[in-house]
Amino acid sequence: MIQVFKFGGASIKDAASIRNVFAILKKYKDEKVVIVVSALDKTTNKLEEITNAYFNKQENAHELLDNLKSQHFNILNELFEEKNHPVFNEINNSFVEIDWILEDLPSDRYDYLYDQIVSVGEMVSTKMVSAYLNHCNLKTQWMDVRDFVRTDNTYREGKVFWDVTEKNIATKIPGLLNDQFVLTQGFLAGTAENYTTTLGREGSDYTAAIFGYCLQAESVTIWKDVAGVLNADPRYFFDAEKFDNLTYHEAIEMAYYGASVIHPKTIKPLQNKNIPLYVRSFIHPDEQGTVIGELPPVRDSGSVKNNMPILVLKKDQLLFSITSKDFSFIAEDNLSFIFGVLSQYNVKMNMMQNAAISFSICIDRNENLSTVIKLLDENFSIKTNGGLDLLTIRHYTESLIEKYTSGKEILLEQKSRNTVQLVMRDLISDQL
Ligand code: ASP
Ligand code: MG
Repeated sequence: MIQVFKFGGASIKDAASIRNVFAILKKYKDEKVVIVVSALDKTTNKLEEITNAYFNKQENAHELLDNLKSQHFNILNELFEEKNHPVFNEINNSFVEIDWILEDLPSDRYDYLYDQIVSVGEMVSTKMVSAYLNHCNLKTQWMDVRDFVRTDNTYREGKVFWDVTEKNIATKIPGLLNDQFVLTQGFLAGTAENYTTTLGREGSDYTAAIFGYCLQAESVTIWKDVAGVLNADPRYFFDAEKFDNLTYHEAIEMAYYGASVIHPKTIKPLQNKNIPLYVRSFIHPDEQGTVIGELPPVRDSGSVKNNMPILVLKKDQLLFSITSKDFSFIAEDNLSFIFGVLSQYNVKMNMMQNAAISFSICIDRNENLSTVIKLLDENFSIKTNGGLDLLTIRHYTESLIEKYTSGKEILLEQKSRNTVQLVMRDLISDQL
């Protein structure tokens, strides 16, 4: 049986971290493992900056690129004593592809450009890690994921063509795993015309799930800098607790409401083939972490642990209230117009509520908001409120709500049997 491992940016952020990844993988050397790797920590953000600088014709694109290159070469210098190791050249060649792009004037296809530039992050990180593993005698075959994961040409949010992808992966990968690992890029994919696409930010988890699905894997493991899946973000909730087990359903709800622990698209392919997802710490690789799957509720000294409350806090939210100017109902036709505009400009709604002639949504900040407002402004009057927090509590109790809302101004509240969502002003500064 095949296992899929995913290592994110934090796990390969410097030479010591890459050595640690080697130490983890060494324990699996006799097993069949496909390894999915993201770009080095913060690299994708830096490549986004380079793309923006280039697109806006600012002068600093080259300088930003040079900084990013040196950061990668510093790590290589620490990992490889022989300076004539071919990996130095390979990394240089991958970065040259960005140099070439920067030499021409930018086209007006931002999303396309973004994917061609940003994808270099994963190309170089995977070359570095696989060269290092081979250098340490862990035989590893580097693969270009763009030959396997096929999407349409929705740049920055490629939609996976499952049939071709499954055929590519299932026919070519298993035969390679007899005496070596296969290592490839997360987040990237390719179109039928061989253009590079990406799967959306943080999409490497999704790539691991795609490989898990197509290979009917025994399990998928995401190696992270936290102990497993916690029931709240420890930056805001100091009493956060780790789940030992979690059902697919709870995990997908958590990711949907904005917990950043796993990419929301990761769960569906795994659930569809009943493949367990392990979330484990690369800092303490011997600890158990969390397993997500089709599990019976686990009884932990009498209490059902699966029903531990889950808290998700999203900060810097905007509340938009949209009211029809002519007193027409906010019903099917108006809603479909509003949704059309929001979806066209990638505005992600985190909560919505409607009344007779008004509609409220809580959204993340988005660079297109002024355009959105302009389009809606003709028929609707728009009120916005910024700097808000959205707190979602699953398996809430009245005392939990009380605990986290006391002294706060609640602007919008929505309750279902399992979940309450609260839009609040000036909730806490740091810790609850
Ligand atoms: N490197 C990509 C990002 O930062 C993909 C990932 O890390 O999952 O969004
Ligand atoms: Mg990441």
